[in-house]
This record gives sequence, C-alpha cells and structure tokens, in this order.
Amino acid sequence: MMTAMPPKKIKSKRAKSLTPTEKSTFEKARIVTNDSVAKLADDIVDCERCPRLRAYCEAVAREKKKAHRDETYWGRPIPNFGDPNAKFVILGLAPAAHGANRTSRMFTGDRSGLWLYRALHKAGFANQFSYENADDGLELINCVITATAHCAPPDNKPLPDEIDRCREYLERTFALHKPRVILALGSIAWTALFNELKRQGAWTGARPTFGHGVEVKLEDGRVCLGSYHPSQQNTFTGKLTEPMFDNIFARAKRLLK
Ligand code: SF4
Repeated sequence: MMTAMPPKKIKSKRAKSLTPTEKSTFEKARIVTNDSVAKLADDIVDCERCPRLRAYCEAVAREKKKAHRDETYWGRPIPNFGDPNAKFVILGLAPAAHGANRTSRMFTGDRSGLWLYRALHKAGFANQFSYENADDGLELINCVITATAHCAPPDNKPLPDEIDRCREYLERTFALHKPRVILALGSIAWTALFNELKRQGAWTGARPTFGHGVEVKLEDGRVCLGSYHPSQQNTFTGKLTEPMFDNIFARAKRLLK
C-alpha cells in the first residue's frame, strides 16, 4: 500500500481571537515582516477559504480512482514545492484531482508532471527526473513551483473568485522569493500573474498577449515568460512538443545567469 507523504507542518501561530479587520491587518504585516517559506506552506495546507474546492478535493480523496484505490490521498491544499532560495518561480494553474491532490506535491503523479520534471531536470533545475511519488527524493534547484489555485478544481477550472482568494499565497511567494524570472504555464496563469503585477504596481497598461515563448521584461528587471501548459490536451495534440517546452527552460536558465 502506498501512502502519501504530507509536507512537514509547523504549528500555526495565528491569533484566532482577532476581529476580521484586525486579522487582515495582522496578516498583511506578517506578509511583509515575519513570513517564511514554512509558514506559507503551513497556511496553504490549512486553508479552507473555498468551500467548493475543499468539498471537491475531499470527495475525490474519499472516492479515489480505481488505479489508486489502495493509496491514501492527500486531499488537502498543495503547498509550493521547490528550493526555498529559488529565484525562478513557475506558476501553474491548479493541482490535478488524482495527481497532486493524491500525492501531496505539485505536478506529482500525473502526465503534466512527467513533462515538467523531465524539462526541469534537463535544464539543471532538478536533481533527478521523477514525478510519480512525493517521497522520491526529488529536489529542485533555484526553482519553486506554485499555482494560481492550490486546491484541485472540478474540470481543472478554478473560478475567478477562487483564484482571487488564493492570490494572497502568490503575493507571499513573490515577497519571499523575489524572483528574477517568472514562468506562467498557460493563459490562466498568465492572466493571474499580470493581475498580481498590476496590483503591485509593477505593470501598468494592458496585459500582454499570452503565447508560447512570449517574454516580457518588467521595469525592475524581472522577466515573465509564457509557455503552453503541459496538459495532455496540449501534449497529446502536439500543440506543445518536448523541444518547445525544453526551449522555455533553457531560456529561463540563460536569464538567471
Ligand atoms: S484554492 Fe487557495 S484559497 Fe481556496 S481553499 Fe484552496 S488554498 Fe485556500
């Protein structure tokens, strides 16, 4: 029997007695002054803000897929995965119901992960190529993977208000990592990225058109890259090929030098 390896948890220090306004102020201050990669992971895993997504993830974890019926599903929100000191942030869409929602690690246990971790390993951003289990010893190098929504959504489509509720974690990811290169996988991640950059004042004007290989340099020097998502919809149809995907990570590598 296989058992999902939950990420290491740290006891939450959040003050439960604060009013919503006080709590909001407290949380905001904490983002700036006292956040950490471990706290961020803890808060994501404990998050219950989206009832639809939480109910869906738990139902999937209970019902399971036939091929994984002997496994214990994670069924919780999926924290970021990667190097705590990473300057390369990869923004995906959301965990897969029988992938990360089962294994507890971003892009782990499904075909998208095969594509992503293979490309990361080839480009030197991963110590090995593996993607099936969270306890495989995989480590990322100068790279961290996050998502527009940290819970698996029905039909792989988080709703706009769910992405908006999850935005705090993207903001904190950027504040903690101060990335030099940000890669958005797919148009929804691209939109979420530029919405966040606009909110931070790092981007003004219209959102750049999404496309595979599109590159946008911000005034502060950060570079945003766009790539087609390595979903089966794109990889099975040939819309995204292995060389196309590899080129994105080779470009990120050059930009980080
Ligand atoms: S999608 Fe994000 S905000 Fe919504 S419950 Fe999951 S972790 Fe929380």
